[in-house]
Amino acid sequence: MDVEKVFHMTGYAQNSSLQKKGSDMVKHITMEMIQKVYYELKPRSIGIADLGCSSGPNSLSIIKDMVLAVEGTSHKIFHPMPEFRVYLNDLPTNDFNSVFKSLPDFYRDLKKYKNQEGPAIFIGAYPGSFYGRLFPCNCLHFIYSSYSLHWLSKVPPGLYDKRGESINKGNVYICDSSPPSVSQAYYNQFQEGFELFLKSRSKELVTGGRMVLILLGRIGQDHVDRGNSFLWEILSRSLAISVSRGEIDRGKLDSYEVHFYAASRNEIEDEVRREGSFEMERLEMFETEREGRNGVSYGTTVAMTVRAIQESMLRDHFGNGIDLDNLFNVYGKMVDEEMVKEDIKPITYVVVLKKL
Ligand code: SAH
Repeated sequence: MDVEKVFHMTGYAQNSSLQKKGSDMVKHITMEMIQKVYYELKPRSIGIADLGCSSGPNSLSIIKDMVLAVEGTSHKIFHPMPEFRVYLNDLPTNDFNSVFKSLPDFYRDLKKYKNQEGPAIFIGAYPGSFYGRLFPCNCLHFIYSSYSLHWLSKVPPGLYDKRGESINKGNVYICDSSPPSVSQAYYNQFQEGFELFLKSRSKELVTGGRMVLILLGRIGQDHVDRGNSFLWEILSRSLAISVSRGEIDRGKLDSYEVHFYAASRNEIEDEVRREGSFEMERLEMFETEREGRNGVSYGTTVAMTVRAIQESMLRDHFGNGIDLDNLFNVYGKMVDEEMVKEDIKPITYVVVLKKL
């Protein structure tokens, strides 16, 4: 499956509250870092990128906060406001137009904070995979990426044997019954991708520029936990029910694997050290709060979030026979049932890197 052509969010604007909650929890770090970059470098034209911006309101919302934060610092140090170059990135399948359509509101909102013109902001979209070059050399001072980097560039090829059969049958991610070669295949893909990501960004970011990366991960070395891996296990179980109902083929489930990886603290640190262009200024783990929204259960909220993320891939792989309403109904119930037994705690890392 060609991830770059198939993978896109479905109904992301309505189903991105969990990601918003997560990035809000570390917003103080994001703001502190962009102010620091501005203060240290004082560029007259500041370049900011949001990688994996998606199609909902989250991207422009954080960009607005960044503009206001820089504005605050520029006043404090009696420096003229810089102009802002904002580079929005996502895969070419992303609905960038829906983001552009909210630009008039975005500019209007920003002007509210000032009586005059408002800052000069130039926003453009740069479609492409962040596992490669996206922007011209040295054009960025600050790179932000929220809930995107746990997506691999592809399903790890090591998950399939010589005959093209999955070595992780019946499961869509690393689980208790997966052979060690499954976690190895995922880890290899993460290493290859993360290195490429760092190499590419190191050319685009000026010396002293910063990256704030927010991504899902895992606590220890063990891959299987009641966090992110458990949410994929529930997807495997829900899909198995669709198989038993005769909606989808057993073989189709066997060959389905997600292009996701929850890295550990050590794995992130190792890759940054090995690649060598960045200094790690901060690496913190946090858990997002677990609550439903708009009167629906937490399970249903998680089910809707996972559906927004997975729908394009599931449809492409399983075809139109799959009843996604049913699948995610089952999924949501399973999450709620499991939560009664013990919390499911999705783990997030926030990583701050400084370009050397
Ligand atoms: N940053 C937003 C959206 C997160 S959803 C928020 O915090 O709410 C993850 C986004 O990452 C999706 O829109 C997906 O298309 C994008 N993405 C995944 N892999 C990517 C890649 N290799 N290159 C660019 N974008 C990618």
